[in-house]
Amino acid sequence: MKTKAAVLYEQNQPLVIEEITIPEPMEGQVLVKIIASGICRTQINEIKGEKGPDKFLPHTIGHEGAGIVQRVGRKVKKVKAGDHVVLTWIKGIGLDISSSKYENNKGVAINSGAISTFMEYAIISENRLVVIPDEMPFNEAALLGCAIPTGAGIIKNSINLNKEKSISIFGIGGIGASALLYASSIGCSKIIAVDVNEKKLKFAMDIGATQTINSKTENVISRIKEITDNNGTDYAVECSGKKEAMEAAFASINNKGTAVIAGNLKYGEKISINPFDLILGKKIIGTWGGETKPDTDIPLYAKMFLSGRLKLGKLITHKFNLEEINEAINLIEKGEVVRAIIEL
Ligand SMILES: [Zn+2]
Repeated sequence: MKTKAAVLYEQNQPLVIEEITIPEPMEGQVLVKIIASGICRTQINEIKGEKGPDKFLPHTIGHEGAGIVQRVGRKVKKVKAGDHVVLTWIKGIGLDISSSKYENNKGVAINSGAISTFMEYAIISENRLVVIPDEMPFNEAALLGCAIPTGAGIIKNSINLNKEKSISIFGIGGIGASALLYASSIGCSKIIAVDVNEKKLKFAMDIGATQTINSKTENVISRIKEITDNNGTDYAVECSGKKEAMEAAFASINNKGTAVIAGNLKYGEKISINPFDLILGKKIIGTWGGETKPDTDIPLYAKMFLSGRLKLGKLITHKFNLEEINEAINLIEKGEVVRAIIEL
C-alpha cells in the first residue's frame, strides 16, 4: 500500500514529504494508521547530524505517536486490528523487529527502524506498541510515547520522588515539562523551573512550578541556594541538553542530592564538575527513557490522564499537519515550543 511520509534524505536538509510504498507486516510487525505524532529534540538532532554521520539515509523518522492497529504479522500476540495504541521508541513486551524497508515512487529504498511516526501508515515492531483505552484522545496519547515516559519516568522511576523533597528542572521543553507536570501531580511542594525563555517560565508556573529562574538574567546556583535556605535542592533534572545547565544542575544540589542528566550534548562535547562534590556525597546519574517499562507505565499515565490527575493537554502548545513538519521543526529549534503534535 501507499502512504504519505516525511523522509530524511540528507542531514541538514528539510524532510521530504512524499508518497512511499509500504510492505505487508511480517512476523512480529504491525501495520498502524497513525493519527498523531509528537516531535522531539532527538529527531532534530538526527536531522542536524549532531550524533555524527548517518549510515541509514534515506530513512523515515519520528518515535512517539498514537494510532489504530490495521493488520498484524505472524506471531504478534500483543495487539489486534482495531486496538488504539501508543507508539513508543522504548522497548516493551513483544517481538523486537529492528527494521523494515519502504520504497519511494522512483524505486529508491527507504530505511525504517522499529518505529516511525512522521507518516500516515507505518510498520511498527510489536514491542513498541502499548494498547490504551479507546476513550483516550490521540493527541494526548502521542505524548505517552516519549515525552511523558521520559519526563515523568525520571520522577517516578529514576529518582522515585517523594513529595517532601525539593527539585529543580532545567529546560522546560517536552521532557522537562513532563517531569514538572508529574512532580506536581504527586504534590511535590518545591519545584523550581529553570529556562532562558520567559514564556516557558510562565508556562512552568501554569503547570505546577513553585519558583522560576531565568538562567539568562539570573545566577542560577545562587538563586537556588537562596530558595532552599542555602542548602541546594534534593534533586536536579537537566533536560535542556546544554553544558552550562548540566554543570549548574550538579552544582546546585545539596550534599545528599542527585543530579539527573536527561539532555544530550553535541557529539564529543563534555561537561566539567568539581570531583570534591562527589566525595561530599553528591550524585550524578543519567537516565534511559526514564527507566520506563512501557507496558505498566504507559497505561498508568493514561489512567492518570483520564481521571484528571495528569493534565497532558497543557503540554501541547502547537499543532501542525504533515506538510508543515519542516516549519514545526524550525519553530522547535527557536525554543518556542513545549510539545508540537503532527495531526495525521
Ligand atoms: Zn523523543
